[in-house]
Amino acid sequence: MRTEVAIIGAGPAGLLLSHLLAEQGVESVLIETRSQEYVLSRIRAGILEHSTVQLLDDIGLGTRLHAEGQQHRGIYLQWPEERHNIDFTDLVGRSVWVYGQTEVTKDLVAAREAAGQQIYYEVTDTALHDIESDSPFVTFTDSSGTQVRLDASVVAGCDGSFGPSRAAMPDSVRQVWERTYPYSWLGVLADVAPSTDELIYAWHPDGFAMHSMRSSTVSRLYLQVPNGTDVSTWSDDRIWDALSTRLGHGQDGWELTPGPITEKSVLPMRSYVQTPMRHGRLFLAGDAAHIVPPTGAKGLNLAVADVALLAPALAALLRKNDDTLANSYSDDALRRVWRCTHFSWWMTTMLHTAEDPFDAQLQLSQLRWVASSEAGATGLAENYAGLPIGF
Ligand SMILES: Cc1cc2nc3c(=O)[nH]c(=O)nc-3n(C[C@H](O)[C@H](O)[C@H](O)COP(=O)(O)OP(=O)(O)OC[C@H]3O[C@@H](n4cnc5c(N)ncnc54)[C@H](O)[C@@H]3O)c2cc1C
Repeated sequence: MRTEVAIIGAGPAGLLLSHLLAEQGVESVLIETRSQEYVLSRIRAGILEHSTVQLLDDIGLGTRLHAEGQQHRGIYLQWPEERHNIDFTDLVGRSVWVYGQTEVTKDLVAAREAAGQQIYYEVTDTALHDIESDSPFVTFTDSSGTQVRLDASVVAGCDGSFGPSRAAMPDSVRQVWERTYPYSWLGVLADVAPSTDELIYAWHPDGFAMHSMRSSTVSRLYLQVPNGTDVSTWSDDRIWDALSTRLGHGQDGWELTPGPITEKSVLPMRSYVQTPMRHGRLFLAGDAAHIVPPTGAKGLNLAVADVALLAPALAALLRKNDDTLANSYSDDALRRVWRCTHFSWWMTTMLHTAEDPFDAQLQLSQLRWVASSEAGATGLAENYAGLPIGF
């Protein structure tokens, strides 16, 4: 089989890349290890920054987002006895949208199916070959057990942190930067209306807590827990008790309404960047090249920003034989990747309780400064609501 761009991974990065390439007349084939049902139901990110929404609008995929998503002007930052609103719209003229990654994926899959996109689900044995030549190829076994060779002009590695693309870069070329954190998130999804109009990020001596949401009837909540936490040790009652304490139930009359928990999982936190994001005819995008802890709500948005740069670069390379953008893709994408890596690290280390009481005083001092200084609040707002694609 032959195509122009072999895309490995049908997550947000791969699906959006195939859509953007098709808009420029470039053909692609997507291959994915999971089933379509699994891809469509995977619960992950939920905050879309300004430029992600703009891009989805520009390509005609913003209709359901605007009908069913919620526009938020900002967030709340809090610590015991204090809650402060950081209004991004006032500070930097941009907002964010609450619209689950699951919904973005549904919209992308529907659009690709309507366009007749070829997507192979439930493939196994994905392997990349000859990426340093002008005729790379990918081999895999399809869902019926047939071995397939997919020849392409370019391979796009959009296969997240567990896919084979990042490791296909030779060791002599690739460089890895990594930070692990001494805590994880216990995330729950609850069938209850959110108790807040905007996300609450709470510093607390017992550990960080966050109140997010997926819709007007579904809440998403997180608790800082030690690494290696067994989710079965957290009963629903224990979760709601800890959330009430850390989020300040009763503070200034605010109440947290509990409800049935429908999903629970523990998410380890790490920062990871692999460079370069291009080697020969292999281009990495999204989680295949970088991971951020979720505190800054950047993972999905970074994947979108990567492919927004990659699609025109590949179109110029394949349609006009112009390699200028392809050659600068890695450096261009990494500028934003490192900015978001720093912002996510900064939010994480400011809000998660450390063992050291000196660190705790520094965190509280930083939080007070961000909440009370226009310069401090503007820095948070600019990064959270998102810098322009190509920044
Ligand atoms: C549990 C979890 C919770 C998260 N929560 C948040 C959050 O709250 N906020 C936030 O901003 N970000 C969050 N993220 C990060 C965000 O979801 C990712 O940054 C985003 O999904 C990146 O999109 P992607 O397309 O690059 O990678 P992915 O979504 O990981 O997609 C990669 C795809 O490649 C496929 N694949 C893997 N291996 C192969 C192979 N060998 N062959 C073919 N296909 C393959 C995978 O099945 C997957 O569909 C979370 C991530 C996880 C894992």
